[in-house]
Amino acid sequence: MAKLRVKAAVIGAGMSGLVAARELHREGHQVVVFERGNEVGGTWGYDPRVESDPLGLDPGREVVHTSMYRSLRVNLPRQTMGFSDYPLLEKGCGDPRTFPGHEEVLQFLRSFAEDSGLVELIRFGHKVVRVERAVEGRRDQWAVEWRTGGGEEAAGVDVFEAVVVCNGKYTQPKIAEFPGRSTWPGEQLHSHNYRVPEPYKDKIVLIIGRGVSATDIAKDILPFAREVHQASRETTPQVLEITKPAGVFQHPMIARAQEDGELVFQDGSSIHTDVIIHCTGYRFHFPFLKTKGLVSVVDNRVGPLYKHVFPPSLAPRLSFIGIPILAFPAQLSELQSKWVAKVLSGELVLPSEEEMMSSVQEHYQRIEELGWPKHYTHKLEIGKFEYQKWLVGQLGLPSLAEWIEKTALIALELFKLVQSS
Ligand code: FAD
Repeated sequence: MAKLRVKAAVIGAGMSGLVAARELHREGHQVVVFERGNEVGGTWGYDPRVESDPLGLDPGREVVHTSMYRSLRVNLPRQTMGFSDYPLLEKGCGDPRTFPGHEEVLQFLRSFAEDSGLVELIRFGHKVVRVERAVEGRRDQWAVEWRTGGGEEAAGVDVFEAVVVCNGKYTQPKIAEFPGRSTWPGEQLHSHNYRVPEPYKDKIVLIIGRGVSATDIAKDILPFAREVHQASRETTPQVLEITKPAGVFQHPMIARAQEDGELVFQDGSSIHTDVIIHCTGYRFHFPFLKTKGLVSVVDNRVGPLYKHVFPPSLAPRLSFIGIPILAFPAQLSELQSKWVAKVLSGELVLPSEEEMMSSVQEHYQRIEELGWPKHYTHKLEIGKFEYQKWLVGQLGLPSLAEWIEKTALIALELFKLVQSS
């Protein structure tokens, strides 16, 4: 049977959008990539600007996409950050370290876009403001409304037969809530708006959170600040042993913030700080998506999504790349993109809508059985690679299974090495 070739819109030219565009194009689809910025690479494009609302609460603020800070080095070994046939080994900008700086990844993605012939598929400076079915009840007609900014503003609507959403998941801040937060007189920001340590010279800073950004930012600020403190829900000795940066004072979560500037912790102790940095993660956000409730985000669950990609009632013409958490992002997006491209061409067939919905319900049931909150819906079980292997099984490409094993082994060996050094 002849392959179906569809006219597809990809939203975003970050790592996910680029590899999605490549896979769709390879499969013979006609691809247009909408990118609101002026360059490829998404979050890897460091931007010294910060948003007008440093906590990201004002919906009317001008959004700065990236969350990169100037000093950021990757937290995964570079061998795990490339694509199956285009590794991040020698394509960067000359930073040979196993954990290079952010510039290296941006240069890698630029090279990938150029070498794969993707640049001409991208409409830069085009912000997508609405994605909606063009004809009620049909899955294969999608209106994509876009706007350009700058001096020569333009706007328009194009109709596509499929839309692949790749707008990233690290731009819309999630902040910590505690009594007195909004009336506390000090400075507060989210890590999304942290760039450089110099503004914190001689200040007392409290970091909330215990993820990679929290640890990185605490270490970045330490040489400048008078004191750096860290508060989080996770304060067991086992957790602290791995995540406690030397020289940073540790506390349980904040119980309340007082109008005199004092922060009181859950163990009753208190400190007076100048700044709070919320390193508390992000929310999925699709402000352009109008599906009349067929796809929604509730407590950071994007749903319903069959295997984190296809909403059953709109599949396969609407799909999402890069949603799962705790995976190697490049590998994950490549596997998902290959799957979407082949489902759209008819080479692979999805189960019925009812079967996909049952699979989603089973997944929700599993989350409950694990005792996980709803917002862990897209969290993969670390180190298991079951999801990635399931995708490989769908694709029928055993060489990709070898690639998964190889990257996992490299990551494990390097992790052990870092731990023992
Ligand atoms: P993004 O890179 O966010 O790209 C999304 C793109 O969509 C952007 O270009 C954006 O401008 C565009 N867009 C958004 N909305 C619209 C719209 N309405 N219209 C048009 N375009 C739009 N991963 C690793 O593998 N290793 C690491 O060490 C690592 N460190 C990280 C550190 C930080 C601080 C952060 C935030 C992330 C890190 N990541 C790391 C994860 C990183 O997000 C992925 O590597 C990868 O960049 C995700 O790519 P993406 O395309 O899904 O999203």
